[in-house]
Amino acid sequence: MARYIGAACKLCRREGQKLFLKGDRCYSGKCAIDRRNFAPGQHGQSRKKQSEYGMQLREKQKAKKFYGVLEKQFRAYFDKANNMAGITGENLLRILESRLDNVAYRLGFGSSRAEARQLVLHAHFTLNGKKVNIPSLLVKQGDVIAIAEKSKSNEKIKAIIESTEGRIIPKWLDLDKNTLTAKVLNLAEREDIDLPIEETLIVELYSK
Ligand code: SF4
Repeated sequence: MARYIGAACKLCRREGQKLFLKGDRCYSGKCAIDRRNFAPGQHGQSRKKQSEYGMQLREKQKAKKFYGVLEKQFRAYFDKANNMAGITGENLLRILESRLDNVAYRLGFGSSRAEARQLVLHAHFTLNGKKVNIPSLLVKQGDVIAIAEKSKSNEKIKAIIESTEGRIIPKWLDLDKNTLTAKVLNLAEREDIDLPIEETLIVELYSK
């Protein structure tokens, strides 16, 4: 399964904003955006005015980085969104939010999407009672996600859940903190998605 394995902070510096890819570090004084908010590389400090195409491209790159998705899969999500009823950009974000790794992150089962993805890969979750290990799996309304019974006593998982205690769970997910089980009440609406992404720019880019 392909994924980006380069330095996460460089991705934020390239976009000029925090993408929250490294969990707790993103909220600490060690965040590279707080310390060096310019693009990496020799010419990083001389940002040029962006063309329309440049802005569309950067918006797509940003969305891919937020969700940890590579180009091929992102394009496939766009095609799927485009074939659905409704607004393509909103459909695209809804699909991305429905990924199991993102849902696990939203529930506080990971300090970052990358960490949640690792936990999914290591089969620490069940979906509707069955073990799953596919981060890109898309959840549906009514699905039930839980920490696998054996994993509830795992010290690492306990520490992660403790560290994300204060996270606000989006209203489209209903988490029972006692049983570490959550239900998908409905799929995310645009207003539920708090990421600074202008999805219309992505639609314009792919519609050229
Ligand atoms: Fe981005 Fe987090 Fe690194 Fe800051 S610490 S640059 S938000 S990944």
